[in-house]
Amino acid sequence: MSLNKAPENNVFYRNQNWHYPRITHGKGIYLYGENGKEYIDACSGSAVANIGHGNTEIAEFAREHIKRIAFTHLDRWTVDSIEKCARQVSDKAPGSLNHVYFVSGGSEATETAIKMARQFYIERDGKNTKKWKVISKWNSFHGNTIGSLSMTGIKERRSIYEPMLLDFPKIPQFYHYRNQWNCATLRETSIKSAEALETEIVKQGKENISAFISEPVVGSAAPGVHPDKIYFEMVKEICRKHDIILIIDEVMSGYGRTGRYFAIEHFGITPDIITTGKGMSCGYTPLGAAIANDEVFSTIMVKGSGQFIHGHTFAGNPLSCGIAGKVMEIIEREGYVKNCEQMGEYLMKKLESLYNYSMIGDIRGKGLMIGIELVKDQKTKEPFPFELKMKAKVTSNLLDEGIVVYPGGGTVDGIRGDHFLLAPPINITRDEVDELFKRLDAGIKKTTETIQ
Ligand code: PLP
Repeated sequence: MSLNKAPENNVFYRNQNWHYPRITHGKGIYLYGENGKEYIDACSGSAVANIGHGNTEIAEFAREHIKRIAFTHLDRWTVDSIEKCARQVSDKAPGSLNHVYFVSGGSEATETAIKMARQFYIERDGKNTKKWKVISKWNSFHGNTIGSLSMTGIKERRSIYEPMLLDFPKIPQFYHYRNQWNCATLRETSIKSAEALETEIVKQGKENISAFISEPVVGSAAPGVHPDKIYFEMVKEICRKHDIILIIDEVMSGYGRTGRYFAIEHFGITPDIITTGKGMSCGYTPLGAAIANDEVFSTIMVKGSGQFIHGHTFAGNPLSCGIAGKVMEIIEREGYVKNCEQMGEYLMKKLESLYNYSMIGDIRGKGLMIGIELVKDQKTKEPFPFELKMKAKVTSNLLDEGIVVYPGGGTVDGIRGDHFLLAPPINITRDEVDELFKRLDAGIKKTTETIQ
């Protein structure tokens, strides 16, 4: 696989220096290229195609749904598939997270959540409330639109847009492998990073803060990174004490990806708002949602003005909601969340042998949301120089072996630091995990040989 120019066609690709293999079709965990090459989709696109490709049950359902109804605007109509999907989501979401505001993707979901938080305080405290800032973290990703990018803590993605971004405070991530406090245990790192939230709230003044947003298990920014349970226990209490809405961003981790329906279940707390996308409809159509608890909903919609001043044309697209409902039905019926937990444990054990390669720095994750961080020196954790383009090299070598992963970088200082995410479909079988590992091992071995 060469890193040459993208094909000269009319598509405005993200990266003109990448050769994009053309995919003709997919089945289960596999994608097939036009030259007959088979790839294991070891990242489900970007943790999207969670029930795999080419699901005929979804295809049949979509065909019937499209014949019945194409589109209705959620501002004026309701459809059975929209209501059913909202009921299924609310049944699965913890606590009183019962109110599903549909959007078309993850960035719209996080934007929606912060507007919801702002309007919550306006309705509760009146128009003069100063509460609008959202605290988020470095090494986090919440989307690429202006509001969501203002929360995102990836310097490379922010830098050229910096003048356009909102002034949202950033605190350190619970990134134990590279924690700034030299903590020896994950628990200590988790406590320090939770304390950083309270310090920032006091610095900013709680009267200026509407929300704190966190991924429960970090996705593309530092894949697989997660805290000790104490982190979210402390964060929940800090948010309660300072009257701040807690938003948990499950755009990547939701719908079974970590071996729980929602990843926050690992940590035993219930936030005020959960944001979702990606695996909600598994890529068969675009969909996302902000799920609000009873208090947020009733403050705006029952006791307050009764109107959330927001909305997108494709919010609550009946086909997307129908497909998401079907996806949830399949996940439940087939026991894919449990399968994800078991296959995640199985894969994690196998991955331990990768530490024999000097370029493997850290392997972490929950369920089938696993991150692998690459380093020049295992002992000192020194990253590769940016100019080596290690994330692209390893991805390219893995593609040659017939496996696709989700690469990323910049975790060390915004520029250096290479990693990739492993997030195969959650219905992967044991034999398929074995095959995935075989190809992964071969690609990493090849990369190691080329840098020696
Ligand atoms: N939040 C998280 C945690 C994500 O991982 C992503 C996408 O990767 C987003 C938000 C943004 O979602 P989208 O790309 O669908 O806008």
